[in-house]
Amino acid sequence: MNIPETSYPRVIIIGGGFAGISLAKKLANKKIQVVLIDKHNYHTFQPLLYQVSSAGLEPDSIAYPLRKIIKKHKNSFFRLASVENIDTAKNEVNTSIGNLAYDYLVIATGTKTNFFGNKTIEANSMPMKKVPQALNIRSLILQNLEKAAIADTYDDRCAFLNFVIVGGGPTGVELAGAIAELKNHILPRDYRDLNPGDMQIHLLEGNDRLLPSMSAHASLKAKEFLKKLGVNVHCSSFVKDYDGKTVITNSNLELQSETLIWAAGVTGAPINGIHEGELMDRSNRYRVNHFNQVEGYSNIFAMGDIALMQTEAYPKGHPQVAQPAIQQGKLLGKNLMKLIEGKPLKPFAYHDKGTMATIGRNKAVVDLKHYKFAGFFAWFVWMFVHLMALVGFRNRVIVFFNWTYNYINFDKAARLIIRPFKKI
Ligand SMILES: Cc1cc2nc3c(=O)[nH]c(=O)nc-3n(C[C@H](O)[C@H](O)[C@H](O)COP(=O)(O)OP(=O)(O)OC[C@H]3O[C@@H](n4cnc5c(N)ncnc54)[C@H](O)[C@@H]3O)c2cc1C
Repeated sequence: MNIPETSYPRVIIIGGGFAGISLAKKLANKKIQVVLIDKHNYHTFQPLLYQVSSAGLEPDSIAYPLRKIIKKHKNSFFRLASVENIDTAKNEVNTSIGNLAYDYLVIATGTKTNFFGNKTIEANSMPMKKVPQALNIRSLILQNLEKAAIADTYDDRCAFLNFVIVGGGPTGVELAGAIAELKNHILPRDYRDLNPGDMQIHLLEGNDRLLPSMSAHASLKAKEFLKKLGVNVHCSSFVKDYDGKTVITNSNLELQSETLIWAAGVTGAPINGIHEGELMDRSNRYRVNHFNQVEGYSNIFAMGDIALMQTEAYPKGHPQVAQPAIQQGKLLGKNLMKLIEGKPLKPFAYHDKGTMATIGRNKAVVDLKHYKFAGFFAWFVWMFVHLMALVGFRNRVIVFFNWTYNYINFDKAARLIIRPFKKI
């Protein structure tokens, strides 16, 4: 893999997500060699993927080159590779470009889309976990609008104009709001040959309320905002089947739709070698102690979405959101140096900064520890927090410019079918 030998201990970080880059930054220019491996050469800002899917942002503005993040870290290296196996006996990772030995290994591989074993849904629906998948959704939405414009029958037209989103968590709610804005502001102007009233957006959630991980106040407000935008919200609705044409739910609701976007859940992305039963919980997360050490290993760590750290406050593990990943990465950086220096480690304590979701222009919900609010101010806070959290000054400027432009013009500038999506 062309990584120079060194007298410093080698730390391999698998995954350049929120956790991986936060750790890599913390280990910058220390007496340690860092090798960051990811199957993509960029970091993805997943919270804004839905804006790429709904043509609000270009993909480049939510992705950031991993090499650029470590360019000033003199003992750090990046390799574009997929880690396929961990050989714990040899302390070695086996990757798509070769093998590499480690002194310390940190697994920060995050999650992948969970279809709960339903192969038909997996084959026919659109996941939204990666930039290429968000681009697929963008293409499919725009292609279906074009197909609707030339459909032979009213029923065919409606099927192209029916958009079904499964999963009423923040991702589903945000995407439903964004597609509703496309219907309300873009369709009447750019697609004059279509009747906006024929376009329907359905949001299906298995729980009895939207945003189940947030407060009841946030759920209520989100539902109210979505209804105002014209989204059909179906709670207590599980999708049983989707053959690419008809969505069937547990309540025997049948929706004819050419587009089903799957935002219903994730499961851990473990790596062969240390994925045996007792290391993982049901959601495929590595059980780790309070220092992020994987159970049974003193030199293997897991952090972020892939790690399950049970604490008194979080008996089911921390929420799979960006903040625990970032905070664990920062602390592990300090703890790894302490481990090397033979000092005692500090246990992780999660500082919950709150949760939020936006439902569209001027509408968002925010849950802080002692204060919950919704509406314009919440939307402003949501924008500010996401803008500041984006990696890279250039990305922040571009996103800010796009949001301002879209806000003033009621537009979505990235309505381009650059790479057409083909259903199998
Ligand atoms: C659509 C969407 C919206 C979200 N919105 C929000 C939000 O609004 N707020 C919030 O706080 N959180 C949000 N989240 C959750 C948040 O993005 C995750 O909690 C966070 O990304 C977890 O960070 P991580 O570092 O653990 O994993 P990730 O950020 O997922 O990074 C994992 C990395 O590992 C790499 N990788 C995986 N397997 C391998 C392998 N075998 N070899 C090499 N590389 C590998 C991947 O390419 C990836 O770069 C959202 C998630 C999604 C999918």
